[in-house]
Amino acid sequence: MTQIHNLRTRKIYEFYLGVQIMSIVMILVILNIFKLFDEASNFQIRVFVYLYGIYILFKLLYYIRKAYFQSQKDEPGDEFTSLLIALLDMLFLTFFLHFTNSYFHILSHLFYFYITFQSILFHHKSYSIFSTLAAIGYSLLTLLNNRSHLFTYESVIHIVLFYLLGYILSTVINEINRLEYNISFMNNELTQKNQQLSEMANKDFLTNMYNHKCFYFHFCEFIKKTEISNSPFSLALLDIDNFKKINDTYGHLAGDMILKEISLLILNNIRQTDIAARYGGEEFAIIFPNTSLDEAKFICERIRSSIEKHSFYVNDKILRVTISGGVRNSSCFSPSCQQHGFLDSVDQLLYEAKSLGKNQILSA
Ligand code: GH3
Ligand code: MG
Ligand code: MG
Repeated sequence: MTQIHNLRTRKIYEFYLGVQIMSIVMILVILNIFKLFDEASNFQIRVFVYLYGIYILFKLLYYIRKAYFQSQKDEPGDEFTSLLIALLDMLFLTFFLHFTNSYFHILSHLFYFYITFQSILFHHKSYSIFSTLAAIGYSLLTLLNNRSHLFTYESVIHIVLFYLLGYILSTVINEINRLEYNISFMNNELTQKNQQLSEMANKDFLTNMYNHKCFYFHFCEFIKKTEISNSPFSLALLDIDNFKKINDTYGHLAGDMILKEISLLILNNIRQTDIAARYGGEEFAIIFPNTSLDEAKFICERIRSSIEKHSFYVNDKILRVTISGGVRNSSCFSPSCQQHGFLDSVDQLLYEAKSLGKNQILSA
């Protein structure tokens, strides 16, 4: 079952234990202060209360061990132990009602309380188990109390009501569990779909790099950050050389494959914290956070050299591809003209690298 369910069951179990501990305290108070019973009954009740107290103590220790010191997974004997505890609960309740015989008519309703708690705790069990246990307890109680007829109208009505209550509870609890399961399933689906949607909205389909829109978002964020905390970053624009010729010679599919491979080479050469995006058709932009110009230039040079050395296999031929680029650091720009001025100046460097013969990185 879901985590929500475990949490709910746990809270109910703690409440149930709390009620049982409170009942011991109340019996002791009644015995010592109100002196409702004669000496003989008083002694019997005291023995019963001590036994009940020891039992609740064991139950409490068992619960603490299970809930706080063990893995949440059920163990093979757990089911049996829990059912044994449910049976002992019923027996103690029966004897408690026997000792408080004079209040039988009021207190016998505690069997309904017993069925409700057990049905919630064992939501996966058949409803008839706890109704049957309560019916056995009630019949035993009738016998212990020396009532002349076991099956009076009163007891038959009680037993029928036990089963009715068990049935209603199990129907309602099963429905709640089904709804909880559906909600948690839908929640997981929604989280997954949201993740996919955000990937689709931010990533470029062909290269799996960030797209132009996402690059701008990050770029603006970095500009703002630089203004506030004076943490300069470097920006590089890279462009594949003579890509049109490659497309024209080998076709667009081969061009796409080269684009993918180049994007992988770029991603392999940058840090996790750097932001690489497909800026345009065959242009890439990289943001290097908290990186000096020298460091950024070093990384761009490493990218350029790894692309230059890489063998691109197209139609059984080995192709060599190069890139050109420009790189600058944001610290050289005044905040007022940063956004566009900065991008334009890096673009200008890229343009110069092209006009100086391509396959090179220019920095300023
Ligand atoms: P330069 O060295 O000056 O950059 O020359 P170039 O041929 O690379 O530059 P140009 O801007 O003239 O051409 C870019 C080409 O990139 C044009 C276009 O067909 C190609 N291109 C852009 N996007 C894609 C794409 O997604 N797939 C493929 N296969 N080609 C693309
Ligand atoms: Mg180009
Ligand atoms: Mg271009």
